Amino acid sequence: MIKNNGTEGINILERNIVISQFADDTTLFLKNERQIPKVLSSINIFSKASGLKLNIDKCEIFALHDQPALSICNILVKSQVKYLGIVITKNKEIRERENVCKNVEKCKTILNSWLQRDITVFGRVLLSKMESLSRAIYPAFSLEISDKVIKLINNLNFKFIWKNKCQYIRRADVVKSIEEGGLNAFDFSVMNGVLRLKWLSSFILHKDSFWFSIPKVIFQKMGGIEFLLRCDYNVCKLPVKLSNYHQKVLLYWKLIYNHNFTPHNSPLWNNRYVLTNRQSLFLETWLDKGIWALSQLMDKQGNLLSHENLCVKYNLQCSIQEYNKVMKAIPTLFKMMTQQLVVHSNVSEMRSLCVEGISLGSKLFSNKFIRNVLTTHYYPCQPKRKYVLSEYSVVEARKLRKRYLSYPIPHKAKEVTFKILNDIYPSNHFLHKRFNWDNNSCGFCERDIETVEHIFFDCEHVIEFWFYLFEAGC
Ligand SMILES: [Zn+2]
Repeated sequence: MIKNNGTEGINILERNIVISQFADDTTLFLKNERQIPKVLSSINIFSKASGLKLNIDKCEIFALHDQPALSICNILVKSQVKYLGIVITKNKEIRERENVCKNVEKCKTILNSWLQRDITVFGRVLLSKMESLSRAIYPAFSLEISDKVIKLINNLNFKFIWKNKCQYIRRADVVKSIEEGGLNAFDFSVMNGVLRLKWLSSFILHKDSFWFSIPKVIFQKMGGIEFLLRCDYNVCKLPVKLSNYHQKVLLYWKLIYNHNFTPHNSPLWNNRYVLTNRQSLFLETWLDKGIWALSQLMDKQGNLLSHENLCVKYNLQCSIQEYNKVMKAIPTLFKMMTQQLVVHSNVSEMRSLCVEGISLGSKLFSNKFIRNVLTTHYYPCQPKRKYVLSEYSVVEARKLRKRYLSYPIPHKAKEVTFKILNDIYPSNHFLHKRFNWDNNSCGFCERDIETVEHIFFDCEHVIEFWFYLFEAGC
Protein backbone atom coordinates (compact mmCIF):
# COMPACT_ATOMS: atom_id res chain seq x y z
CA MET A 1 0.00 0.00 0.00
CA ILE A 2 2.72 2.42 1.04
CA LYS A 3 4.76 1.71 -2.06
CA ASN A 4 1.75 2.30 -4.30
CA ASN A 5 0.18 5.42 -2.79
CA GLY A 6 2.75 7.78 -4.25
CA THR A 7 4.93 8.03 -1.13
CA GLU A 8 8.31 9.40 -2.06
CA GLY A 9 11.15 7.39 -0.57
CA ILE A 10 14.84 8.17 -0.28
CA ASN A 11 16.80 7.91 -3.45
CA ILE A 12 20.13 6.31 -2.73
CA LEU A 13 22.42 5.81 -5.70
CA GLU A 14 19.56 5.57 -8.19
CA ARG A 15 17.62 3.18 -6.00
CA ASN A 16 14.37 4.30 -4.38
CA ILE A 17 14.07 2.89 -0.88
CA VAL A 18 10.70 3.26 0.87
CA ILE A 19 10.14 0.49 3.36
CA SER A 20 12.00 -2.24 5.20
CA GLN A 21 10.36 -4.69 7.60
CA PHE A 22 11.88 -7.15 10.04
CA ALA A 23 9.78 -9.17 12.46
CA ASP A 24 7.58 -6.56 14.17
CA ASP A 25 9.75 -3.57 13.21
CA THR A 26 8.92 -1.37 10.25
CA THR A 27 11.17 1.36 8.94
CA LEU A 28 9.97 3.88 6.39
CA PHE A 29 12.46 5.89 4.40
CA LEU A 30 10.73 9.15 3.54
CA LYS A 31 11.97 11.95 1.33
CA ASN A 32 10.64 14.78 3.50
CA GLU A 33 8.18 15.56 6.29
CA ARG A 34 5.35 16.10 3.80
CA GLN A 35 5.32 12.33 3.26
CA ILE A 36 4.40 11.61 6.90
CA PRO A 37 0.67 12.59 6.72
CA LYS A 38 0.38 10.66 3.46
CA VAL A 39 1.77 7.51 5.05
CA LEU A 40 -0.38 7.92 8.17
CA SER A 41 -3.56 8.19 6.10
CA SER A 42 -2.62 5.00 4.23
CA ILE A 43 -2.08 3.22 7.53
CA ASN A 44 -5.49 4.50 8.72
CA ILE A 45 -7.20 2.92 5.73
CA PHE A 46 -5.34 -0.31 6.51
CA SER A 47 -6.45 -0.06 10.17
CA LYS A 48 -10.10 0.32 9.19
CA ALA A 49 -9.93 -2.77 7.03
CA SER A 50 -7.86 -4.99 9.33
CA GLY A 51 -8.56 -3.67 12.82
CA LEU A 52 -4.79 -3.43 13.48
CA LYS A 53 -3.73 -0.02 14.75
CA LEU A 54 -0.48 1.88 14.73
CA ASN A 55 0.89 2.68 18.20
CA ILE A 56 1.87 6.28 17.57
CA ASP A 57 3.65 6.54 20.96
CA LYS A 58 6.13 3.92 19.84
CA CYS A 59 6.90 5.61 16.53
CA GLU A 60 10.04 7.67 16.16
CA ILE A 61 11.42 9.98 13.52
CA PHE A 62 15.13 10.10 12.78
CA ALA A 63 15.92 13.08 10.55
CA LEU A 64 18.83 12.83 8.16
CA HIS A 65 19.14 16.61 7.97
CA ASP A 66 18.87 19.04 10.88
CA GLN A 67 15.29 19.18 12.08
CA PRO A 68 14.29 21.92 14.57
CA ALA A 69 10.78 20.51 15.26
CA LEU A 70 10.46 18.28 18.32
CA SER A 71 7.60 16.31 16.83
CA ILE A 72 5.83 15.92 13.52
CA CYS A 73 2.21 14.64 13.39
CA ASN A 74 2.54 13.73 17.09
CA ILE A 75 5.56 11.56 16.41
CA LEU A 76 8.70 12.49 18.34
CA VAL A 77 11.82 13.52 16.42
CA LYS A 78 14.81 11.74 17.98
CA SER A 79 18.54 12.24 17.59
CA GLN A 80 19.10 8.53 18.14
CA VAL A 81 16.95 5.50 17.48
CA LYS A 82 17.36 1.82 18.25
CA TYR A 83 16.79 -0.62 15.43
CA LEU A 84 17.32 -4.38 15.66
CA GLY A 85 19.30 -3.88 18.85
CA ILE A 86 21.67 -1.29 17.39
CA VAL A 87 21.59 2.36 18.44
CA ILE A 88 21.69 4.53 15.33
CA THR A 89 22.96 8.07 15.70
CA LYS A 90 25.00 10.50 13.63
CA ASN A 91 27.54 11.02 16.41
CA LYS A 92 30.35 8.50 16.05
CA GLU A 93 31.45 8.64 19.70
CA ILE A 94 27.92 8.16 21.04
CA ARG A 95 27.33 5.33 18.57
CA GLU A 96 30.39 3.44 19.78
CA ARG A 97 29.66 4.18 23.42
CA GLU A 98 26.03 3.03 23.23
CA ASN A 99 26.61 -0.06 21.13
CA VAL A 100 29.99 -1.32 22.23
CA CYS A 101 31.47 0.39 25.29
CA LYS A 102 28.35 -0.13 27.41
CA ASN A 103 28.45 -3.81 26.48
CA VAL A 104 32.11 -4.00 27.46
CA GLU A 105 31.31 -2.47 30.85
CA LYS A 106 28.56 -5.05 31.32
CA CYS A 107 30.97 -7.85 30.40
CA LYS A 108 33.48 -6.54 32.92
CA THR A 109 30.95 -6.74 35.74
CA ILE A 110 29.88 -10.24 34.74
CA LEU A 111 33.45 -11.52 34.41
CA ASN A 112 34.40 -10.00 37.76
CA SER A 113 31.52 -11.78 39.44
CA TRP A 114 32.81 -15.08 37.97
CA LEU A 115 36.21 -14.40 39.48
CA GLN A 116 34.81 -14.93 42.96
CA ARG A 117 34.39 -18.59 42.09
CA ASP A 118 37.25 -20.99 41.88
CA ILE A 119 37.31 -21.83 38.17
CA THR A 120 40.14 -23.43 36.23
CA VAL A 121 42.00 -21.63 33.46
CA PHE A 122 40.05 -23.68 30.87
CA GLY A 123 36.79 -22.52 32.39
CA ARG A 124 37.93 -18.91 32.31
CA VAL A 125 38.87 -19.15 28.62
CA LEU A 126 35.40 -20.55 27.91
CA LEU A 127 33.76 -17.78 29.95
CA SER A 128 35.76 -15.10 28.15
CA LYS A 129 34.17 -16.37 24.92
CA MET A 130 30.65 -16.95 26.22
CA GLU A 131 30.17 -13.96 28.47
CA SER A 132 32.38 -11.38 26.86
CA LEU A 133 33.14 -11.94 23.18
CA SER A 134 29.64 -13.09 22.31
CA ARG A 135 28.28 -9.72 23.49
CA ALA A 136 30.79 -7.74 21.46
CA ILE A 137 30.19 -9.72 18.29
CA TYR A 138 26.67 -8.52 17.46
CA PRO A 139 27.50 -4.81 17.13
CA ALA A 140 30.76 -5.73 15.36
CA PHE A 141 28.73 -7.29 12.53
CA SER A 142 27.38 -3.96 11.43
CA LEU A 143 29.53 -1.28 13.04
CA GLU A 144 33.10 -0.21 12.83
CA ILE A 145 34.95 -0.97 16.07
CA SER A 146 37.84 1.38 16.77
CA ASP A 147 41.30 0.02 17.59
CA LYS A 148 41.01 1.57 21.04
CA VAL A 149 37.92 -0.47 21.86
CA ILE A 150 39.41 -3.65 20.37
CA LYS A 151 42.35 -3.19 22.72
CA LEU A 152 39.98 -2.62 25.64
CA ILE A 153 38.08 -5.84 24.92
CA ASN A 154 41.31 -7.82 24.52
CA ASN A 155 42.75 -6.51 27.76
CA LEU A 156 39.57 -7.36 29.62
CA ASN A 157 39.53 -10.94 28.33
CA PHE A 158 43.20 -11.77 28.65
CA LYS A 159 43.38 -10.29 32.14
CA PHE A 160 40.35 -12.34 33.14
CA ILE A 161 41.98 -15.56 31.88
CA TRP A 162 44.77 -14.91 34.38
CA LYS A 163 42.41 -13.70 37.16
CA ASN A 164 43.62 -10.09 36.70
CA LYS A 165 47.01 -11.20 37.99
CA CYS A 166 50.30 -12.08 36.38
CA GLN A 167 49.88 -13.44 32.84
CA TYR A 168 52.05 -16.56 32.99
CA ILE A 169 51.81 -17.34 29.30
CA ARG A 170 52.19 -14.54 26.78
CA ARG A 171 49.21 -13.61 24.64
CA ALA A 172 50.84 -14.88 21.45
CA ASP A 173 50.85 -18.39 22.93
CA VAL A 174 47.47 -18.29 24.68
CA VAL A 175 45.71 -17.81 21.33
CA LYS A 176 47.34 -20.92 19.89
CA SER A 177 45.57 -24.28 19.93
CA ILE A 178 45.84 -26.66 22.89
CA GLU A 179 48.05 -29.04 20.84
CA GLU A 180 50.51 -26.24 20.24
CA GLY A 181 50.66 -25.37 23.93
CA GLY A 182 48.06 -22.59 23.88
CA LEU A 183 44.61 -22.28 25.38
CA ASN A 184 42.61 -21.66 22.21
CA ALA A 185 41.64 -18.20 23.42
CA PHE A 186 40.25 -15.56 21.05
CA ASP A 187 41.90 -12.31 20.15
CA PHE A 188 39.16 -9.78 19.35
CA SER A 189 41.08 -8.14 16.50
CA VAL A 190 41.26 -11.56 14.83
CA MET A 191 37.57 -12.05 15.42
CA ASN A 192 36.76 -8.61 14.04
CA GLY A 193 38.87 -9.48 11.00
CA VAL A 194 36.94 -12.72 10.50
CA LEU A 195 33.67 -10.77 10.46
CA ARG A 196 35.00 -8.18 8.00
CA LEU A 197 36.42 -10.79 5.63
CA LYS A 198 33.24 -12.84 5.84
CA TRP A 199 31.34 -9.70 4.85
CA LEU A 200 33.69 -9.33 1.89
CA SER A 201 33.18 -12.94 0.89
CA SER A 202 29.41 -12.55 1.01
CA PHE A 203 29.63 -9.24 -0.92
CA ILE A 204 31.52 -11.04 -3.71
CA LEU A 205 28.85 -13.76 -3.78
CA HIS A 206 25.79 -11.50 -3.59
CA LYS A 207 26.82 -8.28 -5.30
CA ASP A 208 23.33 -7.62 -6.61
CA SER A 209 21.61 -8.08 -3.27
CA PHE A 210 19.78 -5.08 -1.78
CA TRP A 211 22.19 -5.09 1.19
CA PHE A 212 25.21 -4.54 -1.01
CA SER A 213 23.69 -1.96 -3.33
CA ILE A 214 25.56 0.94 -1.70
CA PRO A 215 29.05 -0.65 -1.50
CA LYS A 216 28.57 -1.96 -5.04
CA VAL A 217 28.21 1.56 -6.43
CA ILE A 218 31.03 2.93 -4.26
CA PHE A 219 33.53 0.25 -5.28
CA GLN A 220 32.43 0.49 -8.91
CA LYS A 221 34.19 3.86 -8.97
CA MET A 222 37.45 1.95 -8.49
CA GLY A 223 36.75 -0.78 -11.02
CA GLY A 224 34.50 -2.94 -8.81
CA ILE A 225 35.40 -4.80 -5.64
CA GLU A 226 36.91 -7.83 -7.40
CA PHE A 227 39.30 -5.61 -9.35
CA LEU A 228 40.18 -3.42 -6.38
CA LEU A 229 41.09 -6.43 -4.23
CA ARG A 230 43.74 -7.40 -6.77
CA CYS A 231 45.34 -3.95 -6.62
CA ASP A 232 48.29 -2.96 -4.46
CA TYR A 233 46.26 -0.20 -2.80
CA ASN A 234 46.79 2.09 0.14
CA VAL A 235 43.40 2.71 1.77
CA CYS A 236 44.23 6.37 2.53
CA LYS A 237 45.24 7.11 -1.06
CA LEU A 238 42.30 5.61 -2.92
CA PRO A 239 40.51 8.06 -5.22
CA VAL A 240 37.22 7.57 -3.31
CA LYS A 241 36.86 8.38 0.38
CA LEU A 242 35.59 5.22 2.04
CA SER A 243 33.70 4.75 5.30
CA ASN A 244 35.70 3.42 8.24
CA TYR A 245 33.89 0.10 7.93
CA HIS A 246 34.89 -0.37 4.30
CA GLN A 247 38.42 0.83 5.06
CA LYS A 248 38.77 -1.85 7.72
CA VAL A 249 37.52 -4.50 5.30
CA LEU A 250 40.21 -3.52 2.78
CA LEU A 251 42.89 -3.37 5.48
CA TYR A 252 42.11 -6.88 6.70
CA TRP A 253 42.12 -8.15 3.12
CA LYS A 254 45.51 -6.56 2.53
CA LEU A 255 46.83 -8.26 5.67
CA ILE A 256 46.15 -11.71 4.30
CA TYR A 257 46.74 -10.92 0.60
CA ASN A 258 49.75 -8.64 0.59
CA HIS A 259 52.37 -11.10 -0.52
CA ASN A 260 54.30 -11.08 -3.77
CA PHE A 261 53.14 -7.88 -5.38
CA THR A 262 55.44 -7.36 -8.36
CA PRO A 263 55.37 -4.68 -11.07
CA HIS A 264 54.37 -7.50 -13.40
CA ASN A 265 51.21 -8.62 -11.66
CA SER A 266 49.99 -5.58 -9.75
CA PRO A 267 47.58 -3.32 -11.59
CA LEU A 268 48.51 0.23 -12.42
CA TRP A 269 45.16 1.45 -11.10
CA ASN A 270 44.45 2.12 -7.43
CA ASN A 271 48.16 1.52 -6.93
CA ARG A 272 49.79 3.03 -3.85
CA TYR A 273 52.87 4.06 -5.83
CA VAL A 274 51.15 5.44 -8.93
CA LEU A 275 49.93 8.75 -7.57
CA THR A 276 48.62 11.99 -8.90
CA ASN A 277 47.95 14.77 -6.38
CA ARG A 278 48.88 12.23 -3.70
CA GLN A 279 45.99 9.99 -4.74
CA SER A 280 45.89 6.69 -6.61
CA LEU A 281 44.67 6.71 -10.19
CA PHE A 282 41.73 4.90 -11.67
CA LEU A 283 40.58 5.38 -15.27
CA GLU A 284 37.57 3.31 -16.15
CA THR A 285 37.87 3.96 -19.90
CA TRP A 286 41.38 2.49 -19.93
CA LEU A 287 40.39 -0.58 -17.91
CA ASP A 288 37.40 -1.14 -20.23
CA LYS A 289 39.88 -1.45 -23.09
CA GLY A 290 41.76 -4.09 -21.09
CA ILE A 291 44.62 -1.85 -19.93
CA TRP A 292 45.62 -2.64 -16.36
CA ALA A 293 49.37 -3.34 -16.33
CA LEU A 294 52.24 -0.98 -16.91
CA SER A 295 53.82 -3.45 -19.32
CA GLN A 296 50.80 -2.97 -21.60
CA LEU A 297 51.88 0.65 -22.08
CA MET A 298 55.25 -0.46 -23.45
CA ASP A 299 56.47 -1.90 -26.70
CA LYS A 300 58.53 -5.11 -26.89
CA GLN A 301 61.76 -3.22 -26.24
CA GLY A 302 60.38 -1.75 -23.03
CA ASN A 303 59.82 1.76 -24.38
CA LEU A 304 56.66 3.60 -23.40
CA LEU A 305 54.12 3.83 -26.22
CA SER A 306 53.42 7.30 -27.55
CA HIS A 307 49.98 8.83 -27.08
CA GLU A 308 49.07 8.08 -30.67
CA ASN A 309 50.33 4.47 -30.68
CA LEU A 310 48.57 3.73 -27.42
CA CYS A 311 45.24 5.03 -28.70
CA VAL A 312 45.58 3.00 -31.91
CA LYS A 313 46.74 -0.19 -30.20
CA TYR A 314 43.88 -0.32 -27.71
CA ASN A 315 41.28 1.64 -29.67
CA LEU A 316 41.34 4.07 -26.77
CA GLN A 317 40.08 7.61 -26.83
CA CYS A 318 42.04 9.68 -24.41
CA SER A 319 43.30 13.23 -24.44
CA ILE A 320 47.01 14.03 -24.43
CA GLN A 321 46.50 15.63 -20.99
CA GLU A 322 45.10 12.39 -19.63
CA TYR A 323 47.95 10.41 -21.23
CA ASN A 324 50.51 12.78 -19.67
CA LYS A 325 48.80 12.55 -16.30
CA VAL A 326 49.14 8.74 -16.28
CA MET A 327 52.76 8.79 -17.50
CA LYS A 328 53.72 11.39 -14.91
CA ALA A 329 52.11 9.43 -12.11
CA ILE A 330 54.17 6.29 -12.74
CA PRO A 331 57.37 6.35 -10.65
CA THR A 332 60.64 5.98 -12.56
CA LEU A 333 61.70 2.93 -10.56
CA PHE A 334 58.44 1.22 -11.42
CA LYS A 335 59.07 1.96 -15.13
CA MET A 336 62.63 0.63 -15.00
CA MET A 337 61.64 -2.61 -13.25
CA THR A 338 58.85 -3.23 -15.72
CA GLN A 339 61.07 -2.41 -18.72
CA GLN A 340 63.43 -5.24 -17.76
CA LEU A 341 60.55 -7.67 -17.37
CA VAL A 342 58.85 -6.74 -20.65
CA VAL A 343 61.96 -7.56 -22.66
CA HIS A 344 61.99 -11.11 -21.27
CA SER A 345 58.34 -12.06 -20.98
CA ASN A 346 54.81 -11.15 -21.97
CA VAL A 347 52.14 -9.54 -19.78
CA SER A 348 51.23 -11.95 -17.03
CA GLU A 349 47.71 -12.72 -15.86
CA MET A 350 46.08 -10.70 -13.13
CA ARG A 351 46.36 -12.55 -9.82
CA SER A 352 43.45 -14.65 -8.61
CA LEU A 353 41.64 -13.78 -5.38
CA CYS A 354 43.10 -16.69 -3.42
CA VAL A 355 44.56 -16.85 0.05
CA GLU A 356 46.78 -19.86 0.65
CA GLY A 357 45.12 -21.59 -2.29
CA ILE A 358 41.57 -20.97 -1.04
CA SER A 359 39.53 -18.66 -3.19
CA LEU A 360 37.58 -15.78 -1.67
CA GLY A 361 33.86 -16.54 -1.68
CA SER A 362 34.31 -20.33 -1.78
CA LYS A 363 32.96 -22.63 0.92
CA LEU A 364 36.47 -23.36 2.12
CA PHE A 365 36.94 -19.65 2.89
CA SER A 366 35.34 -20.40 6.26
CA ASN A 367 35.48 -18.60 9.60
CA LYS A 368 37.93 -21.19 10.91
CA PHE A 369 40.22 -20.78 7.90
CA ILE A 370 40.21 -16.96 8.16
CA ARG A 371 40.83 -17.16 11.89
CA ASN A 372 43.87 -19.40 11.40
CA VAL A 373 45.31 -17.15 8.70
CA LEU A 374 44.81 -14.00 10.78
CA THR A 375 46.15 -15.58 13.97
CA THR A 376 49.30 -16.66 12.12
CA HIS A 377 49.61 -13.15 10.76
CA TYR A 378 49.21 -11.43 14.13
CA TYR A 379 51.27 -14.00 16.04
CA PRO A 380 53.78 -15.47 13.58
CA CYS A 381 56.21 -16.70 16.24
CA GLN A 382 56.35 -20.26 17.49
CA PRO A 383 55.16 -20.92 21.07
CA LYS A 384 57.86 -19.90 23.48
CA ARG A 385 57.60 -22.69 26.02
CA LYS A 386 59.30 -25.73 24.58
CA TYR A 387 59.71 -27.48 27.90
CA VAL A 388 57.96 -30.68 26.77
CA LEU A 389 59.95 -30.74 23.55
CA SER A 390 63.19 -31.34 25.45
CA GLU A 391 61.95 -34.86 26.27
CA TYR A 392 59.46 -35.64 23.50
CA SER A 393 59.12 -35.26 19.74
CA VAL A 394 56.75 -32.65 18.28
CA VAL A 395 54.13 -35.31 17.43
CA GLU A 396 54.30 -36.80 20.92
CA ALA A 397 54.14 -33.35 22.51
CA ARG A 398 50.97 -32.51 20.55
CA LYS A 399 49.34 -35.69 21.85
CA LEU A 400 50.53 -35.08 25.42
CA ARG A 401 49.14 -31.57 25.42
CA LYS A 402 45.67 -32.74 24.47
CA ARG A 403 45.23 -36.30 25.73
CA TYR A 404 44.78 -35.60 29.45
CA LEU A 405 41.82 -33.32 28.74
CA SER A 406 39.64 -36.33 27.91
CA TYR A 407 40.57 -38.25 31.09
CA PRO A 408 37.81 -38.68 33.71
CA ILE A 409 39.69 -36.59 36.30
CA PRO A 410 38.66 -33.36 38.07
CA HIS A 411 39.21 -30.11 36.16
CA LYS A 412 41.62 -28.94 38.84
CA ALA A 413 43.84 -31.97 38.16
CA LYS A 414 43.76 -31.16 34.46
CA GLU A 415 44.82 -27.62 35.26
CA VAL A 416 47.82 -28.95 37.22
CA THR A 417 48.79 -31.08 34.20
CA PHE A 418 48.47 -28.05 31.93
CA LYS A 419 50.72 -26.03 34.21
CA ILE A 420 53.33 -28.77 34.39
CA LEU A 421 53.33 -29.28 30.62
CA ASN A 422 53.75 -25.56 30.06
CA ASP A 423 56.37 -25.10 32.73
CA ILE A 424 54.30 -22.67 34.80
CA TYR A 425 53.58 -24.89 37.80
CA PRO A 426 54.12 -22.66 40.87
CA SER A 427 56.82 -24.71 42.57
CA ASN A 428 59.02 -22.82 45.04
CA HIS A 429 61.85 -22.90 42.52
CA PHE A 430 59.62 -21.32 39.85
CA LEU A 431 58.32 -18.64 42.24
CA HIS A 432 61.84 -17.87 43.39
CA LYS A 433 63.07 -17.52 39.83
CA ARG A 434 60.14 -15.50 38.59
CA PHE A 435 59.11 -13.37 41.56
CA ASN A 436 62.24 -13.49 43.67
CA TRP A 437 60.46 -15.60 46.27
CA ASP A 438 62.62 -15.95 49.43
CA ASN A 439 62.47 -19.66 49.87
CA ASN A 440 63.05 -22.14 47.05
CA SER A 441 63.52 -25.28 49.13
CA CYS A 442 61.11 -28.20 49.14
CA GLY A 443 58.04 -27.83 51.37
CA PHE A 444 58.18 -31.53 52.32
CA CYS A 445 61.82 -32.37 52.95
CA GLU A 446 62.95 -28.72 53.41
CA ARG A 447 66.33 -29.75 52.05
CA ASP A 448 66.42 -29.90 48.25
CA ILE A 449 65.29 -27.26 45.77
CA GLU A 450 61.58 -27.60 45.01
CA THR A 451 61.52 -28.05 41.24
CA VAL A 452 58.57 -29.69 39.47
CA GLU A 453 60.54 -32.93 39.08
CA HIS A 454 61.48 -32.88 42.74
CA ILE A 455 58.02 -32.25 44.15
CA PHE A 456 56.35 -34.88 41.94
CA PHE A 457 59.03 -37.57 41.66
CA ASP A 458 62.37 -37.12 43.39
CA CYS A 459 61.53 -35.98 46.93
CA GLU A 460 61.90 -38.83 49.42
CA HIS A 461 58.46 -38.13 50.93
CA VAL A 462 56.89 -38.22 47.50
CA ILE A 463 58.66 -41.45 46.61
CA GLU A 464 57.21 -42.93 49.79
CA PHE A 465 53.76 -41.68 48.79
CA TRP A 466 54.00 -43.23 45.31
CA PHE A 467 55.24 -46.46 46.85
CA TYR A 468 52.28 -46.76 49.24
CA LEU A 469 49.87 -45.86 46.48
CA PHE A 470 51.38 -48.52 44.25
CA GLU A 471 51.20 -51.11 47.06
CA ALA A 472 47.56 -50.23 47.80
CA GLY A 473 46.73 -50.47 44.12
CA CYS A 474 48.20 -53.98 43.94
ZN1 LIG B 1 61.63 -32.63 48.91
